[in-house]
Amino acid sequence: PSFASLGVMDQLCEACDKAGFKNPTDIQAQVLPYALEGKDIIGLAQTGSGKTAAFALPILQGLWKKPQPFYACIMAPTRELAIQISETFEKLGSGIGVRAIVIVGGMDMMSQSIALSKKPHIIVCTPGRLTDHLEHTKGFDLKKLKCLVMDEADRLLDMDFGPKIDNILKAIPKERTTYLFSATMTTKVAKLQRASLQDPVKIEV
Ligand code: AMP
Repeated sequence: PSFASLGVMDQLCEACDKAGFKNPTDIQAQVLPYALEGKDIIGLAQTGSGKTAAFALPILQGLWKKPQPFYACIMAPTRELAIQISETFEKLGSGIGVRAIVIVGGMDMMSQSIALSKKPHIIVCTPGRLTDHLEHTKGFDLKKLKCLVMDEADRLLDMDFGPKIDNILKAIPKERTTYLFSATMTTKVAKLQRASLQDPVKIEV
């Protein structure tokens, strides 16, 4: 299939083409039709499968239809992964004016607070530092969030981010779309899935 035949809008098909994504990968071909319909997704896929664009494209398309600050939050287990994810958003979304910021540990809180005050569309974060900002940064909240992504959920939980994730889940609307991606389905991932996804479509590649 082509990105267009899966329901991806023209501007984003062009962005894919420019990024060198000529045809959808397996995970993209399976996730995109459901995600563009608004379904919650649990995706079992490895790094390298193209899973980032599988969740980035539906988020960008949703933003295009109804732009708003703090539309989506993507949680990743490491700084490096968070930066990679934000680069994908940049690559696919800058043409339609979407702004994403990275909120991870080991960087200055104050400059992150300033970046948050500029109300980006998308936050890519590690759960610990996002929690710090939810607790300490005046005027910042995620009460209007439309989409939550938990990327590499098995690693997020292995790194004991579980309690932080629970706090974040309490700080965002129940009415939202949620995507959970994991390389493996563990007991902990299954528990997180039950706590955070509604009637998800399960996709395995
Ligand atoms: P990911 O699994 O999301 O980390 O993606 C792995 C690599 O595949 C990244 O370097 C992407 O830029 C690249 N990629 C993602 N989707 C496609 C595609 N449809 N065609 C070619 N390369 C892709």
